[in-house]
Amino acid sequence: MDTLTRKAYAKINLGLDVLRRREDGYHEVKMIMQTVDIYDVLTFVKAPADVFRLSVDSAQIPDDDNNLVLKAARLLFATAGIDAGVEVTLQKNIPVAAGMAGGSTDAAATLIGLNALYDLRFTTEQLQEIGVKLGADIPYCIMGGTALSQGIGEILRPLPAPPQAHLVIAKPDLMISTKYVYENLHANSLKVHPNIDGMIEALSNRDLIKMCSLMGNVLETVTEKENPIITQIKDLMKEQGATGALMSGSGPTVFGIFTEEEKARNCFQKIQEENLAKQLFLTGFHNTDNPT
Ligand code: ATP
Repeated sequence: MDTLTRKAYAKINLGLDVLRRREDGYHEVKMIMQTVDIYDVLTFVKAPADVFRLSVDSAQIPDDDNNLVLKAARLLFATAGIDAGVEVTLQKNIPVAAGMAGGSTDAAATLIGLNALYDLRFTTEQLQEIGVKLGADIPYCIMGGTALSQGIGEILRPLPAPPQAHLVIAKPDLMISTKYVYENLHANSLKVHPNIDGMIEALSNRDLIKMCSLMGNVLETVTEKENPIITQIKDLMKEQGATGALMSGSGPTVFGIFTEEEKARNCFQKIQEENLAKQLFLTGFHNTDNPT
């Protein structure tokens, strides 16, 4: 086998809490992660040592060594102690700098894909240990599905999947830097924290309505405050019958959860008509295995 193709799924945060800012500057988080049915497609072709080439169909992200795909490939080969190279084609569908872990999921797919292509035989845990060196969300992206993420993102526990629902995912025309949002978060003086344990209980009871009623994201205190379009989209989603609407990660992407497909469709149309989001998706949760 000289070629392998893999999908890299985006995530949303059903809940996102920051417990504190540690002395070393890292933030201790407690988040509920959920993969959604929006994905990039990566194709890997074996190449001789020192050939690391990436072709991307988006001008928004680098196609050189700054891309997490090539960083992951280099780190994986270095850890394995092999002289290898790779040519990668990346079809980018996940909104960039959007709070959907686009870069992290591409890196995760690269680690999994090249592990298989070069028969390196790293375990999932070992791939996660390699991945966390490049980004805190990468261990989760390797695992996918529904999960509780704690520590800086490296402590993971699988959770029961939510009942299937219809999602409207809207990315307004803004680029948000995750670093900026965390730097401007007053983590140690947050007054309101989402009830993540309550959400876990609701997931265990397969109670989507309860889960939605508890959704919260402390990063909204930075991104939503500075970008009223996020409030506007959330309000519109609720007006259109969303059971819950929230910003994902550091934003600016907003998602709405609907139990009725027709309401989700109407909401999608309304956001389009009002031109509130440049990238807009009608999709669902993704909890099955990643077919290659
Ligand atoms: P997160 O939810 O993990 O905070 P994000 O959705 O906010 O991620 P990304 O889409 O991962 O942000 O992109 C952040 C930056 O990372 C981009 O501006 C880009 O320069 C860089 N980057 C490097 N590699 C990639 C990649 N493969 N895909 C997207 N961005 C990448």
